[in-house]
Amino acid sequence: MAKRVYMFNEGGKDDRELLGGKGANLCEMTGLGLPVPFGFIITTSTCREFFQAGNNLPSLLEQEYRVALDLVEKKMGARFGDPENPLLFSVRSGSPVSMPGMMNTILNLGLNDEITEGLARKSGNPRFAYDSYRRFISMFADVVLGVEGKKFEREIEKYKAAHGKTLDVDMSAEDWQEIVRIYKTLVAFPQDPFEQLRLAVEAVFLSWHTPRANVYREMNNIPENLGTAVNVQSMVFGNFGDDSGSGVAFTRNPSTGEHHFFGEFLFNAAGEDVVAGIRTPLSVDALQESQPEIYQELYQTQELLEKHYRDMQDIEFTVQEGKFYMLQTRSGKRTGRASVKIAVDMVKEGLITESEALMRVSTGHVEAFLHPMVDPDAKTDIVATGLPASPGGATGEVVFSAEEAEDEVAAGRSVILVRRETTPEDIHGMKVAAGVLTELGGMTSHAAVVARGMGVCAITGCGALSIDYAAGTATTVEGVVIKRGDVITLDGTSGEVMLGDIPKTEASSSDDFQVLLSWADKHRRLKVRANAETPEDAAKARELGAEGIGLCRTEHMFFEAGRIDIMRAMILSETREERQTFLDQLLTFQHDDMLELFKVMDGLPVTVRLLDPPLHEFLPQSDDDINALSERIGKPAEKIREITGRLEEVNPMLGFRGCRLSVVYPEITEMQVKAIISAAADAIEQGCKPLPEIMIPLVINVREIRLITEIIDKSIREVTRAKTASVPYKIGTMMETPRAALGAHRLAPEVEFMSFGTNDLTQMTYGFSRDDAGKFIPKYLEQKLVDADPFVTLDQRAVGRLMEMAVRESRAVKQGIKYGICGEHGGDPRSIRFCHDLGLDYVSCSPFRVPIARIAAAQANVGFEPND
Ligand code: PEP
Ligand code: MG
Repeated sequence: MAKRVYMFNEGGKDDRELLGGKGANLCEMTGLGLPVPFGFIITTSTCREFFQAGNNLPSLLEQEYRVALDLVEKKMGARFGDPENPLLFSVRSGSPVSMPGMMNTILNLGLNDEITEGLARKSGNPRFAYDSYRRFISMFADVVLGVEGKKFEREIEKYKAAHGKTLDVDMSAEDWQEIVRIYKTLVAFPQDPFEQLRLAVEAVFLSWHTPRANVYREMNNIPENLGTAVNVQSMVFGNFGDDSGSGVAFTRNPSTGEHHFFGEFLFNAAGEDVVAGIRTPLSVDALQESQPEIYQELYQTQELLEKHYRDMQDIEFTVQEGKFYMLQTRSGKRTGRASVKIAVDMVKEGLITESEALMRVSTGHVEAFLHPMVDPDAKTDIVATGLPASPGGATGEVVFSAEEAEDEVAAGRSVILVRRETTPEDIHGMKVAAGVLTELGGMTSHAAVVARGMGVCAITGCGALSIDYAAGTATTVEGVVIKRGDVITLDGTSGEVMLGDIPKTEASSSDDFQVLLSWADKHRRLKVRANAETPEDAAKARELGAEGIGLCRTEHMFFEAGRIDIMRAMILSETREERQTFLDQLLTFQHDDMLELFKVMDGLPVTVRLLDPPLHEFLPQSDDDINALSERIGKPAEKIREITGRLEEVNPMLGFRGCRLSVVYPEITEMQVKAIISAAADAIEQGCKPLPEIMIPLVINVREIRLITEIIDKSIREVTRAKTASVPYKIGTMMETPRAALGAHRLAPEVEFMSFGTNDLTQMTYGFSRDDAGKFIPKYLEQKLVDADPFVTLDQRAVGRLMEMAVRESRAVKQGIKYGICGEHGGDPRSIRFCHDLGLDYVSCSPFRVPIARIAAAQANVGFEPND
């Protein structure tokens, strides 16, 4: 028969699975010789037995823990159930993985009327005895008997009001005695300590299945069958008198990471009083003066624990009658800044390796260095939740158009641009807004991609809002009306929309952050590039560590005022000659932009994608806009309407875009290639080293690639004839259609690189339109119809398999092809790990994701080091 009960000196930190995290740590601390009040643990496998037997404790269990109890009594020199020399217990749950939502602790178990009197006599402190008893009754009633805790709190409030008392410290022994009497009229609880213990053990096991615990497990993928252990530990009392007290502390500062012992202590108080914040605690530094010996022991203990666990610890301790006890230790929660500082400091102190430091930092931690973040403790008035499209926090006055956004910002205000969805027309407003909020659109919709690229906080697919432009309102499903000019805060990391100005932490880099990033670079194999098209974004990307541009979406270069009309005139041209005149004008812009980009990315590859979007995206829709354009470009409004109508598509995402544009309008491709290559030649003349890579988007077969490669080659020949410098360039393709992935072995001989455009590849694999997915993905996530948003985290089962097959089969026919990914997944840590495993050469992501990708790429690499 498996052993069901372990003493604190029988286990260690590796026994989490059997003894739960808390129990394993208590054993570990006991093993280290620390003054841990002795006790025992009932195993998690006993919990499973309990459920298998229809919620019945194994018949021999009580016998087994009574043996353990004897041992505890001997060690503590007191007896459970003995009024003359009582031993009391705390009883707690403890699962193998930390799990809030399970059972609360029961303290002072073992008290009854007679034993409380005994405790009063023995301690010479009746107030303490009755205070302990009333706490026990309410906890036991709440946790074991299911009587609402508030009921007891209300009685205390009533009593205090009737007797002119305000604080707990105002209550005398007689007051608490009276409270006990009142409590006993509210609840019948067992006077027999052994009966109390048995019921408490059962309650801990049953707490594994409270609705809160079930939900938490489900959300965090914690297996159902782990079960919880029961920790039964001797009580020590911080509220025994003035030479007693309780404290909680961190081995380092959890908000700054500073290496300074940090904590709080309350004299004559139980641990729960410190946590509840009823009285203002002293800093542990104050203990140094009032109780130097205790402080010394505490200080040495925390030092030892941190060295032992090689991580910042969050500890709980108690002092009873001048004697120090350790109650708990665990890895401390910390802010992003603290996490990076602690990781870097610990490497410098020789406590952990660089690889370990990298594994200690999460994406959320890194984001705190890149964007202002909404303070999680300050969140209130959450009125709607959408998709967390672009991280960070932003506050501003609501505006409903890009024009208003520009005007308000020019007048010195901060704005949140609220739109049903965004189009290229809105970019000038998005650029100046503090944040963008859309009702429609998924994680790769226009709003999401553009905002992420610019590092602007955004929430998309917020279906809980209904926007009325004419009225200037956005109304939530609950009927909250947000009006133009109202101040709201967006949390682009969680997708929450809040009313008012919620406090945020500032974003700024730190030396430690740079050190960590340099370690990431040392420990990663995957290269990290950025998706960027403007010189500013490219410069930002390079500053953040990008090793080139993985995707320059050339269409984004034509949105600026002064260019968009030429682009429109080109699209609206009716003859090749007419089109050519506008293309010639565009060539100048394209050339100049490319030249700038090559200069910023001197010596690094720049992948330039040929024009991709549905052309009608550039054209005006409303009558007013059409008339205005007609005037500006001198083309009849009727004609514009007619051509726009012709270009309109039923399914633009699957329509006339990508390389299909090159097939129909080869002159557009010619212009682009000439611009790219002549800019590269000019860059060389100016002393730079441009490395252009021309990328053909959305291909389906070899014939397309051959046709377009011919256009490219011909255009290049025309340029180089006039230019002296010879430009090193590559031609590659974007793998965005399932057909391309399935036929990668046929495409391979034609190209030098393949870049997975996983936004479109996901769209086409799922049959989910990127622009419309925001309408239903939140429901899919809520109902767990998908594990994650496939536009955020690469779906390894389908899209990943296509990628795997494409890489394997194309490698088999041609070596030396470079593989990359430039869909939004290129900035997602889980997807980056997949790309690493697949052996891709680089990931490409928006500039502000570059540091995250550098760390994630290193984590993917060091995660598999044999000694890690
Ligand atoms: C893609 O499809 O993954 C991609 C990067 O291209 P775009 O988002 O511009 O369609
Ligand atoms: Mg695409």
